[in-house]
Amino acid sequence: MKTFWTPWRIEHVRGEATVVPGCLFDPPGSSAFDQEYLLLYRDKKVLVLLNRYPYAHGHLLIAPVRHIDSISALQSAENLALMEMLQTCSAILQKHFSPDGLNIGCNIGKSAGAGIAEHLHFHIVPRWEGDHNFMTVLADIRTIPEHISATYHRLLPDFLELISSPSAKNDDS
Ligand SMILES: [Zn+2]
Repeated sequence: MKTFWTPWRIEHVRGEATVVPGCLFDPPGSSAFDQEYLLLYRDKKVLVLLNRYPYAHGHLLIAPVRHIDSISALQSAENLALMEMLQTCSAILQKHFSPDGLNIGCNIGKSAGAGIAEHLHFHIVPRWEGDHNFMTVLADIRTIPEHISATYHRLLPDFLELISSPSAKNDDS
């Protein structure tokens, strides 16, 4: 029997890992990025956070801006924005980390392992051939702050480019 690899379970294992008062996926203010909250990107529909407790370099969290807990509550424009952002994040991760593969997952509800079930979010995790030992090292909580800060600054310019590009999906439509 094959075992599913479910890195997003880490939220559940470590409990409510948020360091932000209130919902992790509602960073205060309206800025498009904010290192304090590991916010890499935000427009009117979608936001991207770097996971503070990653399973691998570049473990990203993608969520609708609206605080909703159900996939059925998503509007068409949000569906589009989320899927396009998953595509964009995949390309950015490919560019920086050259993973051999990606895990993209979503836990809906506490019983499915969601650490923060109140706000729908997707995980995208880069994978490499034989990366289990690598990830064990990276998952070491003592090493995380440096990795996180370095990873944030490595990825941020690509997200800033999205904000300034004419095709940025931050219109009011
Ligand atoms: Zn929220």
